[in-house]
Amino acid sequence: MENNILCVAHVDESGTTLPKVAYEALGAAIDLAAQYGSSLTIGLLGGEVQAAANSVGTVGAPILAVAGPEFEHPRYASDAAAVEAICRAASPDIVIVPGTSRFMRVMAGVAQRLNAKINTHVTSIDAGDGAVTAKRWFYRQRIEALIRREARPWFLVLDSGCHAACSGVPSTAAVQMLKVELPESAKRTTFCGIRTPSSSAQTIRPDAKLLFVAGAGWCKKQADGKTHLPEAETAILEFLRTSGASLGGSKSLVDQSGENQAVLGFMTHLNQVGQTGSTPRHPKGLSTCCHGEEPHVVGWRFVNERRAVNLDPNCGWARGKADVLYAADAFQVMARLNELLAKRATREEELVSQT
Ligand SMILES: Cc1cc2nc3c(=O)[nH]c(=O)nc-3n(C[C@H](O)[C@H](O)[C@H](O)COP(=O)(O)OP(=O)(O)OC[C@H]3O[C@@H](n4cnc5c(N)ncnc54)[C@H](O)[C@@H]3O)c2cc1C
Repeated sequence: MENNILCVAHVDESGTTLPKVAYEALGAAIDLAAQYGSSLTIGLLGGEVQAAANSVGTVGAPILAVAGPEFEHPRYASDAAAVEAICRAASPDIVIVPGTSRFMRVMAGVAQRLNAKINTHVTSIDAGDGAVTAKRWFYRQRIEALIRREARPWFLVLDSGCHAACSGVPSTAAVQMLKVELPESAKRTTFCGIRTPSSSAQTIRPDAKLLFVAGAGWCKKQADGKTHLPEAETAILEFLRTSGASLGGSKSLVDQSGENQAVLGFMTHLNQVGQTGSTPRHPKGLSTCCHGEEPHVVGWRFVNERRAVNLDPNCGWARGKADVLYAADAFQVMARLNELLAKRATREEELVSQT
């Protein structure tokens, strides 16, 4: 029996809402609390928390918060002290935490301070047959583990995209503020800003509905015996802009960038999908000029609907790895697709201007 369930989250960079994964973690906490009939508490951390608290006001759970300028930005010492204070006030059995980069850095330390246990990269939490069961993947998403623990408190850090987000109309929420006095030693680190590689900032969009993957074929000699890199870059960037898709790459393609070969300028190793790359979660995926070999396709594990464009009708995608394979020239397909998307955008603009 889990008496108390706590969901802790930090306010996002806008200062007014929570990160998407925090609403998902809260959704998981609400479900678990309902399964056990447990009490649910929400913990919040940030510079200002009232607007974010209002966004989860309809949940009706008590809200504990640590707020103030010292808690606005990510910093191990202040974040850990704040979450520790929230946990001590709530005395939870289970703590459900969104797997943001800010929280991934501090939660193991907080669990240690509370003599708690922790599991990260959790993909589901279930009351199952009477005991809480958390799932996570190992060995590049090939082995799924079911984890149960006797020890409490138990921290479960949930990955993004694994649970339906809790939603509700914002309503004024009562927030109980906790005072955390930070010693000088906890303020030594100052926050200067967030720097992301420009390519990843523009092209990696974990919340996009579509993953668009480019393979090495985009940089290969085409039927006319020449490469067409500028055309490839324009077609891909145009598509990303109009569709809002996230950009992935095959290992062959991103390695070429590292080897200073003529490549797509915006593609980095951060984009690599696959066994030695990432395993992004998107409802749909479109692969272009990529052969669909197993070490690449293993990264598509959590992409639900897969389509591929390849000149080779015998490519890896044709062997049961894609739902639909277009045996076609990706340059032509993307040009046509961009044309259709541009037409759609113009139509939408016209409709907006008419209303
Ligand atoms: C241990 C190990 C780990 C690995 N990890 C990864 C990983 O994490 N991620 C990963 O991606 N790979 C990984 N690989 C490499 C992987 O096996 C493949 O070599 C790689 O994914 C191939 O990339 P590619 O399909 O882009 O290139 P290629 O194999 O060169 O294929 C290019 C494709 O483009 C097509 N093409 C060319 N022109 C056009 C056109 N105009 N229109 C349509 N199609 C066209 C061609 O038909 C061809 O199928 C790993 C390999 C090993 C051994």
